Parts: sequence; C-alpha cells; structure tokens
Amino acid sequence: MSVLPPRAVRGMSDILPDKTRLWSWLEGQLRQLMSRYSYAEIRTPLLESTRLFARGIGAGTDVVEKEMYSFSDRSGDSLTLRPEATAGCVRAGMEHGLFHNRQERLWSYGPMFRYERPQKGRYRQFHQLSVEAFGMEGPDIDAEQILMTRSLWQQLGLTPYVQLELNSLGTAQARAAYRDTLKTWLEQRQDALDEDSRRRIHTNPMRVLDSKDPATRALLTDAPQLPAFLDGPSREHFEQLCASLDEAGVSYTLNPALVRGLDYYSRTVFEWTTTELGAQGAVCSGGRYDGLTTQLGGKPVTACGFALGMERLVLLLESCQRLPELAAEVDAALVSCGDLGSYSLLLADKLRAACPGLRLQLICGGGSIKSRMKRADRSGARLALLVGESEKEQGTVTVKFLREERDQLQLSFDDLVSSDLLASEPLADPGSPGAVKTGKYSGSH
Ligand code: ATP
Ligand code: MG
Repeated sequence: MSVLPPRAVRGMSDILPDKTRLWSWLEGQLRQLMSRYSYAEIRTPLLESTRLFARGIGAGTDVVEKEMYSFSDRSGDSLTLRPEATAGCVRAGMEHGLFHNRQERLWSYGPMFRYERPQKGRYRQFHQLSVEAFGMEGPDIDAEQILMTRSLWQQLGLTPYVQLELNSLGTAQARAAYRDTLKTWLEQRQDALDEDSRRRIHTNPMRVLDSKDPATRALLTDAPQLPAFLDGPSREHFEQLCASLDEAGVSYTLNPALVRGLDYYSRTVFEWTTTELGAQGAVCSGGRYDGLTTQLGGKPVTACGFALGMERLVLLLESCQRLPELAAEVDAALVSCGDLGSYSLLLADKLRAACPGLRLQLICGGGSIKSRMKRADRSGARLALLVGESEKEQGTVTVKFLREERDQLQLSFDDLVSSDLLASEPLADPGSPGAVKTGKYSGSH
C-alpha cells in the first residue's frame, strides 16, 4: 500500500529559495525604512491567549468570529495563533511598562494566521510588517506614517500602482451614535441585503459598509454617512491630517465607507489599495487605535499604526514588473580537479578566513570534472577556482572567469587573496541594481 507523502497545510505556503532572495531583499528595504523613521523592532510570541484577541480585536469582528486558529493546550488554556500583531504588541507594551509616560515607535514582522478561504493574495499563513506608534495624540504621527508608506512606494517604484483612501471613524461615542442610526436604516432594508450583511446588522453594522456584494453596495450609496456624526475634536484632528497630506503633496480619496475589520480603530483609518491584484486590493491598512489599551483593561494610551501585507506586496512587485535585479549569492566556486583528499575543503576555509566578505561555494559530492564545472556555473559564481594535482603541488589556484571573455590566470594563494578578484559584488539596492549575468560555461579545464 502506498502512503501519500505529506503536504503543506492548505493556505500555508513554502517560500522556496528562488523567492527567498526577493523576500530577504524586501525585508531589508522595510528594515531600512523603519530605521530611517526611527522605529525600533519588537518581537512578540506567535501564540497568545485567546482572550487577548477576543477582547482586543472585538468579539463581533470577522477575525474573531470565524478566522482564528484557536486550540486548548495540554493544561486546558485556550491559545490562538496571532491573526495580527497589534494586540500582542500592545499586550507586551502594557506588561513591560513601555507606555508609561513615554512615546514609543515600534515595528514587528512575521507570520499571521487566519482561517480564510485561500485565493490569490489571501492565505491562512501570511506575513505582515506591523508598525505602531504610542503616546502621540496629534495628527502629525498619522501623517508621518502615511508619508512613510508613500516613501516605501517610491523606494520600490510602486507609486503609480497604489492609491490612498482615508476616513475618520471619530471617537467611540460618535461612532456609537452613528452605529445606531445605521442599524435602524439597515433594519428597514434588510430584505435587500446579502446574507452576511443581514447577520452583521446585529453583530457589527458598520462592517456592512465593507460588503463586496454588488446589490448591497448599490443600496448603501444612500446610507447615512459617518462624517456627519463626527465629534468636533475628531473632525479637527482629521482636518489637520488632511491639511498636512495636502501640503506634502499626497493624493488621497476620502472614503466615508472605509471601516476597518478590527474593532479597536478610532479616528483616522487609511488603506493603500491597488487595482493590480483583483479582489485582494488592500496592500497596507492602518489607523488610530486610541481605545485599545483601555479595552484591554489598562490606562488610555493614544496609538496609531498600520500593517502591510508582504505576500500582496510581492505579488504587486511581480505584476508591475518592479522586481529588482539581485546580485548572485555566490562570488566564487572552488572546483577540485581530481582526487585531492581534503585539500580543497581546507583551502576553501583558508580563503574564507583570508577574505571575510567572500561568498565561496565548494563544489562537493564528486562526479566528473565536466559535471563539477556545470555545478560551478549553476551556482551563479563569477569565478571558478580550480585546483588539481599541479596546483596543489605549487600552492596555486587557477582562476577561470565564468561570466566574461577573459584568459584564465594561475595565481599563488597570496596573490589571489591580495588581488581584487575575490572582492564581493555589492548586493543590489534599488538605486544601483547589480545584475546577474547567467552565461553558460562552455570551456573545459
Ligand atoms: P482584507 O479586507 O483584504 O481581508 P483586512 O482588512 O482583513 O484585509 P488587515 O487585518 O488590516 O486586513 O491586515 C493588513 C494587511 O494584511 C492587509 O492590507 C493585507 O495586505 C494583508 N492581509 C490581510 N489578510 C490577509 C490574508 N489572509 N492573506 C494575505 N494577506 C493578508
Ligand atoms: Mg480580512
């Protein structure tokens, strides 16, 4: 009886080596952005107690209602794989007194888990960059976070492909008044609504505004709108934010129906969307969550943040053909010609010790010289360093140029190390892409 080989869990992807280079590069770009704006990294556990999310995100939200991976551990505690990073970050900040009379700018990065219907741009394990600022009440931090994301689009060449939508949800009180009015309005029209929306009238009526159902959407054009309910201070906060964005030349669309799927948002909400990825158009979403610490039983702390979906960002770079040309990961490949025992193994480490930046691949595993040379070529290296009996005897290395028409050289170890031949190619940054030439090796030693 044949046994089926194991497969990955549905909606959870392997990121294979041909993609991890792009991912690492992109992660480097994000890390750079974070430090340019003076954000510090925080790492929190992937598992948190279920009640953190139920209380923090809100029991009536889609995420808590139907998307969480929750289970009881061996002692019967209910744990949940984090569906987003903000609640955990706030929990950590409260637990370690990070918000006590001070401001914090924090970022984190890693996998999130939601039990969703997998499709392009929507997965059950996905990655987010999550950015949070605490203790800043004025709209300058909201504006700065938006400018920060704009700077990222510029850095990645994505500016023409993303649009900014903006709204203010006001304070919890203003929103409650709006929610009641909207609820009554929706109840009077419930027969015309899709099934999900009909259910949400009672659990989370504002979420109906986010419905993707065409008939519901058409009906909603006449629905009461949130901006009319905004309290004075929220209105002023929002006007100041808009004025800063205008001054900074950021274009945006005011979308009074933009509500976020998590209950902790207040005042500013924003979303960078793209039309390049079909239905999964939200690339980066965020806003203010001044109420979260109190919702979790702590003192009030003002906060503003956003999360950026990595998979969608990668898809966007691919679909807009904005992929960087990444430098090869190997500078040189050491090929042993003949049976030299451990000579090449030791020589490789001697070279690594003498040239600290060198990325050297030792061609292992035996095989004919031809197949070793093929592997050297496939490694992407610029140089093949060949050693045979005569090189071993003379203490030399034969250098073959795999990507350019140039005569091979025979150099002593010291000459090789002191030449600039083994200088590592700088890894590509978007300003100076380092191209990989993948010429075929065709000569023989
Ligand atoms: P959507 O409306 O697309 O479901 P969301 O409002 O649930 O998004 P957030 O909770 O704000 O999204 O998460 C922030 C970002 O994380 C989104 O803008 C998106 O880029 C990404 N994201 C959210 N859910 C997924 C998922 N299941 N798979 C991949 N990326 C996701
Ligand atoms: Mg969602």
